[in-house]
Amino acid sequence: MFKGNLLTNFTFLCALFFLLTVSFLDARKEKNLLRFEFRKLLMGVVARIVVYAPNDYIAKWACSRAFLRIAQLDELMSDYRNDSELMRVCRNGHLSPLQVSKDLFFVLERALELSRRSNGAFDVTVGPFVSLWRRARQTKQLPTEHELNEAKKLVGWEKIQLDASKGTVKLAIAGMKLDLGGIAKGYAADCALKVLQKFGLRHALIELGGDIVLGEPPPNRKGWRIGILNENGKPEKVLELANCAISTSGSTEQYVEIDGKRYAHIVDPRTGLGLTKLVLVTVIAKDGITADSLATALCVLGEKEGHKLAKAYGAMAFFRERKN
Ligand code: ADP
Ligand code: MG
Repeated sequence: MFKGNLLTNFTFLCALFFLLTVSFLDARKEKNLLRFEFRKLLMGVVARIVVYAPNDYIAKWACSRAFLRIAQLDELMSDYRNDSELMRVCRNGHLSPLQVSKDLFFVLERALELSRRSNGAFDVTVGPFVSLWRRARQTKQLPTEHELNEAKKLVGWEKIQLDASKGTVKLAIAGMKLDLGGIAKGYAADCALKVLQKFGLRHALIELGGDIVLGEPPPNRKGWRIGILNENGKPEKVLELANCAISTSGSTEQYVEIDGKRYAHIVDPRTGLGLTKLVLVTVIAKDGITADSLATALCVLGEKEGHKLAKAYGAMAFFRERKN
């Protein structure tokens, strides 16, 4: 019985290995590739993968692994889940340095680098301000001066200390709340693309809300056709892109209106309030983590400083901005 099982398992593994090898070799021949598209609700948005693969079996398998990788990152980095690694750091990180996963460490490292280079326009410690904004969205009332001042004491990217040799995170004070909402989706899309590439699927597009990461273009095309919308949601231009990432952030979709003024879900760390200007920024960068975080930072920074920072990152930015 045991022997029989062993033989069956062995035969199954051989067949699987054969299928994977053939699929992998097939994936290298562009003319044999077919288009597949899958969607799944992840990280609070509809995650979409478009991929060219030799057959439906390899496409489904690779994409399910890519979605799984995104789901695992969400478990680490979500601020909506009390049991996420990020929330554990928020609860205990002030007590002693905490060792964290390589993924979380990498994202925090990149977030702090951008905080420094953007003079704090991007700041993953804005959690207490974001909590006040979420409450304002429900109650339609702005936080009081006192509440803003209390939150301000807990905000500031210099209050996070990373130790790269030990892979640890230490927070300066109790009550801090880290928020990776402006960077985690871009990173997750990068990781999903890497999963597909491991399966030999190089012609792929991953979309997570406003963050898109692109691999090789569709077969026999120069690039993926990506439409850019204007601040009114109307198509503005179409770009053909490949092997890069494109992210759009802004104040046009998520906001709360109080006394005739709009406060967006992107917070200006200097005031603690949501942005009141009408702004939409699209960034094209080498990878998703850069494009996503830069797009958020540039909304706060504004056009002049924003272009300078984008250039320093080797990225390109399109601004659509109007006083509210
Ligand atoms: P979305 O997540 O809607 O695609 P963004 O990538 O611009 O848009 O991220 C916005 C999110 O980033 C907010 O919901 C909040 O969680 C977080 N955030 C808000 N303000 C800042 C800021 N100044 N720096 C870093 N993160 C921010
Ligand atoms: Mg962003």
